[in-house]
Amino acid sequence: MSYSYPRIGLLIDGEWIHDRDACLQVVNPSNEEILADVPKATAADLQRALAAADRARRIWRDTAPEARARVLRQASALLRERMDAFCQTISLELGKPLSDARYEVERACAIMEWDAGEAVRLYGRINPSAPGMLQLVLRQPIGPVAAFTPWNAPLSSPARKLSGALAAGCSVILKAAEETPGAACLYAQCLMDAGLPSGVLSLVFGDPNEISEALITSPVIRMVTFTGSVNVGKRLTQLAAAQMKPVLMELGGHAPVLVAEDADPVQVARMSAAAKVRMAGQICVSPTRFIVHERIYDAFLVAFAKAVGEVRVGDGFESGVQMGPVANPRRLAAAQALVEDARRRGARVLTGGHRLGEKGYFYAPTVIADVPREALVMSEEPFCPLALCVSVASLREGIDLANSVSVGLAGYAFTNSLSTAEQIGREIECGILSINHFGGPAPDMPFGGLKDSGFGREGGSESLESYTVTRMVSQKAF
Ligand code: NAD
Repeated sequence: MSYSYPRIGLLIDGEWIHDRDACLQVVNPSNEEILADVPKATAADLQRALAAADRARRIWRDTAPEARARVLRQASALLRERMDAFCQTISLELGKPLSDARYEVERACAIMEWDAGEAVRLYGRINPSAPGMLQLVLRQPIGPVAAFTPWNAPLSSPARKLSGALAAGCSVILKAAEETPGAACLYAQCLMDAGLPSGVLSLVFGDPNEISEALITSPVIRMVTFTGSVNVGKRLTQLAAAQMKPVLMELGGHAPVLVAEDADPVQVARMSAAAKVRMAGQICVSPTRFIVHERIYDAFLVAFAKAVGEVRVGDGFESGVQMGPVANPRRLAAAQALVEDARRRGARVLTGGHRLGEKGYFYAPTVIADVPREALVMSEEPFCPLALCVSVASLREGIDLANSVSVGLAGYAFTNSLSTAEQIGREIECGILSINHFGGPAPDMPFGGLKDSGFGREGGSESLESYTVTRMVSQKAF
């Protein structure tokens, strides 16, 4: 059966542009077939997108919040209507199992619907003052936003950034990932079909360095939002700081999973296997360092290796597949190098630890035990299906190990003790902590990290904060 993949274009000022040189070919990671060429925006294209964002900024700022919310809700309805096209596109360009792709579309819809609600709750305040004086605190859109999204969430990451910015009343130029451009194109079309005025959104692809430099240094752009690696995030933050522009940075993680001695090791192991293989470990909140109390460590390892070894890996279109390929040869090479390094330093590979087949970027889900603290994988985000297990003698040792990395995005813990849960909640340095489950935050909760994982929050009642500025106006009767 053949599936359709959209034609990739640049969307500038309401017009789709296809006739440009290609900057990249989109490759299906399950079979290495080429799906499409990605047109490369020229310097003139970027200037047109900037001019459109500048012009549209006033139109969208002055559109009533309820009308902005209607566009987001209508776009969300279109996403659901076009569910099959989205799922096929995401599975083709990323290899995700179809059921996971469906979850991503539903998540994007939920995010948009949440932000639509927030658009009409952008409350300011009136400060008390003497008679004859009115003091207003207003929250207004910050202005045109430059948004950069990665390949691992081709729809939900653009949806997150665009719905926050659009709900707040900002125009946006989005550079979505060149590796997975299809879902972003379908998404931009949904927004246009939902009535978003021309120019409020432009979508570009090309050379990431050239585009980020052109957009961030332009006086039109007032704010920068990025999801991706810590290194790129730091570069873009420096560029923005030189222009005195605020940023929202959602960067990498290296999530610890603390398993306390009172937890059920077999049950936690089964849940851990399912969570680890989501998106082949290529999500910033992926559970990575399993820090287990020594009394239950062996029982945990046996059950974990068994459950991970039974995971069905394959093309996302095959039924029953639980994990697809990694996204590109870079991730395959990274997995191989990190496992080799850990092995060399004395770690034990309990299951996996190798590529699967010769065609497609499949890597076996892998459990590694007794990983020494100095192994590279204990500090470098693996971003592939590697689970690292370490035993600790006490909760104190576990918490210190959990906090020993430079990032702090997600964290997980399993315990039946209220006081252990309380201590973990207080001491673990991460922005998103889940105790006794692996569910991530729903759209009504703030998502973001500490330390090198970035700053600013997406979702929750904080969702529009980064896209607004607070101004005061005082008005005297006269
Ligand atoms: P990378 O840093 O080269 O790219 C990550 C994303 O940033 C890509 O979509 C890329 O197009 C974009 N990018 C790169 N340079 C850019 C620039 N100058 N301006 C704007 N965007 C730019 O990483 P990669 O090889 O694709 O992945 C490597 C690592 O990145 C992973 O191991 C992981 O740690 C991290 N990553 C994190 C996330 C996340 O959700 N936080 C997503 C993707 C990758």
